[in-house]
Amino acid sequence: MPDKENNFKFTSEKFVDIEILRYQVPGFENLSLKEKTLAYYLYEAALSGREIIYDQNYKHNLKIKRTLDTIVKSFAGDRKSTEFNNFLIYTKRVWFSNGIHHHYSTKKFTPEISQEYFKYLVLNSDTKKFPLTPNQTIKEFLEEITHIIFDPIVDAQRVNLDSNNDVIKTSANNYYEGLTQKEVEKYYSLIENNNSDKPISYGLNSKLVKENDEIKEKVWKVGGMYSPAIEKIIYWLEKACGITEDESQKLALNKLVEFYRTGDLKLFDEYNIAWLKDTESNVDIVSGFIEVYGDPLGYRGTYEGIVSIKDIEATKRIKAISDNAQWFEDNSPIDGRFKKKNCVGISAKVITVVVEAGDASPSTPIGINLPNANWIRKEFGSKSVNLGNIVYAYDKAASEKLLHEFCFDDEEIERAKKYAPLADNIHTDLHEVIGHGSGQINPGVGTPKQTLKNYASAIEETRADLVALYYLPDKKLLELGLLPNFEAVKAGIEKYIRNGLMLQLYRIEFGDNIEESHMRNRQLISKWAYEKGRSKYISDANLSNKQVEKDVIEKIVKDRKTFFVIKDFERLRIIFGEFLKEIQRITSEGDYEKAKYLIETYGVNVDTEIHKEVKERYAKLNIAPYRGFINPVLTPKYRDGKIVNVNISYPEDFTEQMLYYAEKYSFLQYDN
Ligand code: ZN
Repeated sequence: MPDKENNFKFTSEKFVDIEILRYQVPGFENLSLKEKTLAYYLYEAALSGREIIYDQNYKHNLKIKRTLDTIVKSFAGDRKSTEFNNFLIYTKRVWFSNGIHHHYSTKKFTPEISQEYFKYLVLNSDTKKFPLTPNQTIKEFLEEITHIIFDPIVDAQRVNLDSNNDVIKTSANNYYEGLTQKEVEKYYSLIENNNSDKPISYGLNSKLVKENDEIKEKVWKVGGMYSPAIEKIIYWLEKACGITEDESQKLALNKLVEFYRTGDLKLFDEYNIAWLKDTESNVDIVSGFIEVYGDPLGYRGTYEGIVSIKDIEATKRIKAISDNAQWFEDNSPIDGRFKKKNCVGISAKVITVVVEAGDASPSTPIGINLPNANWIRKEFGSKSVNLGNIVYAYDKAASEKLLHEFCFDDEEIERAKKYAPLADNIHTDLHEVIGHGSGQINPGVGTPKQTLKNYASAIEETRADLVALYYLPDKKLLELGLLPNFEAVKAGIEKYIRNGLMLQLYRIEFGDNIEESHMRNRQLISKWAYEKGRSKYISDANLSNKQVEKDVIEKIVKDRKTFFVIKDFERLRIIFGEFLKEIQRITSEGDYEKAKYLIETYGVNVDTEIHKEVKERYAKLNIAPYRGFINPVLTPKYRDGKIVNVNISYPEDFTEQMLYYAEKYSFLQYDN
């Protein structure tokens, strides 16, 4: 995979705290015509709802968006001036956040231009295209919209979680109208009380309003709120229903259509169950009102649409590892007492994203675990997938600069460029498929959550990572065709150590310790390996009879920059193996004291000197904290009214894509 994509440009542009990236869809060309066509219909369905999130985020967002779109498209004055550029930056931020509040902090941001200049922009654009309400003059319109855009106090925060306030009244989202937090809570406590063990997700697909002292839901369905967009979604979903890959997919999509048509949340549950049972299809869609983070009380779901295809390569890779689960268990360095006799690999899935819309775009998740309803998860399980090509693009986009800064020499840089993404994937597969599934707890000892308590999850991640690190250099992986050579192994392990001892510290604030389990585990392993590999320790550890003079991992300072350079991969593997053995013992026996000692000693504290250095070196690279993506474009080729092929292309410009979407998918009224 890495080689053929060398020429693809993963980065596009940067503004304020945001970087725009691009991703590819490997494997799309190899789909059958039927699959491509299905993907295309679902792609249109996903994008058709893309404006819903704007209105959900804030009731004036669509009006603002249409205004900004119109100016960018039609402003006839100087488009090269600094002021115009500042206006453009504001517009791009609005597009990125699906509204005028920051996508992550949910705080309102305002443009770096004067109100006079904004007026000038409006008056020198295509004034017929602005979203005036009936009988409104352009002057009145300007007054109204300037107030909303420029006053930082007006609707300052989209989601307010500060429980000292009325979180409903102080949140600017468009989920409630005329209601206090108390009224909303009372409304739902009455409904939810007389509940079954299969509760529907109350409030997931509606706006709650109080009109004439009566509380009612404005449901997002055909004939209800967002109807024009929902009708389009249904139009494309129904086309998809006609060419599904099998019956279970057809059943799922039909349920989804019925849900969108009626707004009946029971049908949404039925759809989710049907969707869970559809495991064989190559093409898949996540569609609906899904995540509830935008509502401080967690009822209302944001619209999102994600179309994907199965990552065939990754699926094969995972199967090869999973099929050999018992071999990995039998050959593991852990104590025989703790080995499983019947080891089955855990199933992990990787998908390739074709398009994302709504809440999932331009800023995107890298993993999905759905559905959200707890009773469905308990009874029917969930689909948990990694967005493979998105993760890959993230990695490619940031890595060049980071590699040049944090790799010791050109050899290490080249190795990382060539093999690190592949080795990373194999590491993740081994971690998920073999690592978490291996080993067993001694009879009578409780679960790690009971015995290791607050250290349980860091220890469990450590265990899974060590399994991956121990097996990465094993000949078995070459035999299975998963890794091409030992250079790839080196690249994977070097990346791990670089990250564990240095890079990941950039996310920690000065003065803070490491709290997050995965970060603790990475530092624990790297630091432990570094310490145990110091030349003075080696004879103590009884690892070998040979006299050892050099460190396994050497700390080298060059031009006042610190590097951790791996000098002996063979020995490092032995160290990983010994540590795995101990971590498995801790898990199997529930040794809380030892778990606590290891994590507190190696995983929690930050080396302040290194921390400062990493932060400084990182800051120089100017990498944006938030990143999002331009989507690929699918274009069907028709002959005699029938689709005969679907082409995929990869636009390079964010503004162009946003204007193209505005042209094609502006279905909603701007006053909901
Ligand atoms: Zn894990």
